[in-house]
Amino acid sequence: MNRLDGKVCVVTGAASGIGRRIAEVYARAGGRVAIADLQLEAAEAAARQIRDDGGDALAVAMDVADEAQVVDGIAAVVAHYGRIDVLVSNAGIQIVNRLVDFSLADWRRMLAIHLDGAFLTTRECLRDMERRGSGGAIIYMGSVHSHLASPLKAPYVTAKHGLLGLARTVAKEGARHGVRANVICPGFVRTPLVDKQIPEQAKEFGISEEEVVRNIMLKDTVDGEFTTVDDVANVALALAAFETNALTGQSLVVSHGWFMQ
Ligand code: NAD
Repeated sequence: MNRLDGKVCVVTGAASGIGRRIAEVYARAGGRVAIADLQLEAAEAAARQIRDDGGDALAVAMDVADEAQVVDGIAAVVAHYGRIDVLVSNAGIQIVNRLVDFSLADWRRMLAIHLDGAFLTTRECLRDMERRGSGGAIIYMGSVHSHLASPLKAPYVTAKHGLLGLARTVAKEGARHGVRANVICPGFVRTPLVDKQIPEQAKEFGISEEEVVRNIMLKDTVDGEFTTVDDVANVALALAAFETNALTGQSLVVSHGWFMQ
């Protein structure tokens, strides 16, 4: 159970936070991991750490919103490892602002990274999976915001909802090639992405940082706890290792009960 022996796994945004822990957990489960990230130095450091721990990892420079970089980056992974079995489309950023203050440039940047990035990496990996005919798993990093909305997060909420539609379509098109597609929807996880939001929200709402955590971020959880990178990585491992089309087109919410489906 939950082994990835020899499977080639591309994880985008794996130089930091959730993606980095997924890459580490996949490598420990026997996966060969491509760490695709905008930050090449940090990706190389993450890959080196995995190799030092006895795993197999490759760093790949990739802006997921740039078609040529995605095409070249996925081709580099196939050239190195010969195949792709698992894609985790995880790279993401957050920009918070009131809708009336959002610039079109920021809106487009958010949709480009979250949605264009998911589309481009899916297309390139799916082409390899279909060509080889031995199936695969595609996992999107959604959010509780794939299912509900919060103020100040219009493009994030829009993009994360959009990933549900993409996953369901990929589940239908991929089924006859043995390709499954699912979305993981975490609650708040303490990563650089969230640490940046706490002072921003405190300023926007005129409350303390502690109140942002207690009264906004964790208010509706069952236990007032943050979700951890390990919680999310273990679900990502289960989805990557799951063998049949029984589990496809789904979203799994990992949020300490913040959102219940
Ligand atoms: P993080 O900031 O720790 O890591 C994000 C990584 O993505 C970084 O290494 C960054 O360099 C990379 N990245 C950003 N833009 C990129 C691009 N254009 N191309 C390639 N790489 C790029 O953030 P995180 O919290 O680990 O977030 C990872 C994913 O999880 C995101 O999609 C985020 O929306 C989602 N998520 C996070 C939380 C949370 O609370 N942290 C909750 C739900 C969902």
